[in-house]
Amino acid sequence: MNLDHAVVIGASISGLLTARVLSDYFRQVTLLDRDSLPTSAAHRQGVPQGCHLHVLQAKGEQILSQFFPGLEIELLQAGATRLDLGSDLFWYQYGGYRVRFNSGITALCLSRPLLEASVRRRVLTLQNLTCLERCAVQGLVAHEDRSRVTGVRIQQRSEGLPEETLAADLVVDASGRGSRTPTWLEALGYSRPQETVIKVGVGYTTRIYQQKAQALSQAKAVFIPPVPPQGKRGGGLFPIEGDRWIVTLVGWFGDHAPTEEQGFLNYARSLACQDIYKAISQTEPLSAFTTHRFPSNLRRHYEQLQRFPAGYLVIGDAICSFNPAYGQGMSASALTAAALDRCLQAASRRNTWHRLAQDYFQSAAEAISNPWRVTVGEDFRFPEVEGAKPIGTDWINGYMANLQKTTLRDPEISRTLLQVMTLTHSPKILFSPKVILRVIKDHWEFRYAERTP
Ligand SMILES: Cc1cc2nc3c(=O)[nH]c(=O)nc-3n(C[C@H](O)[C@H](O)[C@H](O)COP(=O)(O)OP(=O)(O)OC[C@H]3O[C@@H](n4cnc5c(N)ncnc54)[C@H](O)[C@@H]3O)c2cc1C
Repeated sequence: MNLDHAVVIGASISGLLTARVLSDYFRQVTLLDRDSLPTSAAHRQGVPQGCHLHVLQAKGEQILSQFFPGLEIELLQAGATRLDLGSDLFWYQYGGYRVRFNSGITALCLSRPLLEASVRRRVLTLQNLTCLERCAVQGLVAHEDRSRVTGVRIQQRSEGLPEETLAADLVVDASGRGSRTPTWLEALGYSRPQETVIKVGVGYTTRIYQQKAQALSQAKAVFIPPVPPQGKRGGGLFPIEGDRWIVTLVGWFGDHAPTEEQGFLNYARSLACQDIYKAISQTEPLSAFTTHRFPSNLRRHYEQLQRFPAGYLVIGDAICSFNPAYGQGMSASALTAAALDRCLQAASRRNTWHRLAQDYFQSAAEAISNPWRVTVGEDFRFPEVEGAKPIGTDWINGYMANLQKTTLRDPEISRTLLQVMTLTHSPKILFSPKVILRVIKDHWEFRYAERTP
């Protein structure tokens, strides 16, 4: 393959990371987005989810810091807060708070626009990168025999400009969940990828508040996930830059929080614990309500396609879009960008490029499999979920419910679960003999203590 020019469709988290990776291999990289890209940490239309709570897991942060050294310091200077997920977060589930302890497992809390703007600023300084904003990709251009994608058809949004063609040696689709790759592939005579769809009917309602430390005793953040099968409501209150809180109330299967003052407060009060309700009752709202509907987890299995055009790849939410309530999406995007980097390294070492798509989609599928298991496994605890349930899910979820209850008392188990949720460790560690024994022991001790008068 010629390594002259690569094009990336979409300049959100996946597109920015992809452009950074490609800049090490291609002479020139063009990053396209149909939006106007703000120069500051502002919301934009193309990323409507940006108004809502976004937690960057430890693994995502690690990968971002590898590609953008010094990013963490910049974000902290801009007002992000670092939370220890064991000691700074009130996590209420199964009738109690998780045990509080110094876990050393942390998360950076900040608004999604601040994260994206900081990463974007760094990408835009790359010497071999050109960014075209207000430029929508309308379709692919292919070689006569359709074996290779040779560019994209673009429409710049400046008035009166006709559609143009941009030639490329590699095109990467990072255009998010709404990606049109399945349709574009079909138009070139290829099959669409199989899709796994797990319906959850999730709705987010979010509002920003002035921080008021006294309103949260000892904690910096609160997380109250629902406990299925009865519980359908959850919420999170996290610090963001500018001494603000972002408060997101989440409901499954249509049980969504209202967008007016009293209804929102009542919904917060209806959660399993009152911490969010009490905190927001004592402080000033700084924004209007925003909502986001998320119908289903969606995974497109490009790794299973027998035929795929050379010179074309797909990344991020365009491959897999996760129920956001578990905060896995940006880190999964980072994992797939790291997988792309490894595949490009291997291909340039061997100087053979014909297996790039095959190797990359396989590596991306492996990278996605853990966050997918975590997310979809949790969702299947709701009996209303629609979709193909992997064999053994009910058994695993029965065990996971006991493990989650153990986190109310056992710091080691809590740490292990946090390592899995933050994607630094494989879910396999939850099934080691040591962990299983601790969960069983806790279960019996607790039941015994409950029955002893
Ligand atoms: C409500 C909500 C909350 C979330 N919370 C979290 C969280 O807490 N933690 C977490 O890790 N993840 C979270 N996520 C997921 C996270 O937002 C995404 O995983 C992340 O943005 C990566 O997505 P992406 O870059 O692949 O696509 P997107 O962010 O969807 O970006 C796609 C980009 O492509 C552009 N584009 C689309 N079509 C075209 C075209 N034809 N031509 C040119 N440009 C185009 C768009 O303008 C946009 O900039 C959440 C998602 C939602 C919906």
